[in-house]
Amino acid sequence: MSLSVSVVVSCDLSGPYGTCARQLHSGAATEAEAYEAAVRAGWDAGGGIDLCPGHNRHPAPTTPPIRLHPEETPNA
Ligand SMILES: [Zn+2]
Repeated sequence: MSLSVSVVVSCDLSGPYGTCARQLHSGAATEAEAYEAAVRAGWDAGGGIDLCPGHNRHPAPTTPPIRLHPEETPNA
């Protein structure tokens, strides 16, 4: 019987309002897999400081960019 290890990625944000308690239970056995799962979930992970989707500087990968249509002008 083997041990099942799950890496937990936790948000490293700390600031004047305290620390973020958000964690991601990746279910992965290795850090690399855990970070991969975290990045897929919108985390900024694996670069030394791990930040949850609410605190990283990048939008979640599931959010499509807003496309404007400047060619569709209302004054036809
Ligand atoms: Zn956070």
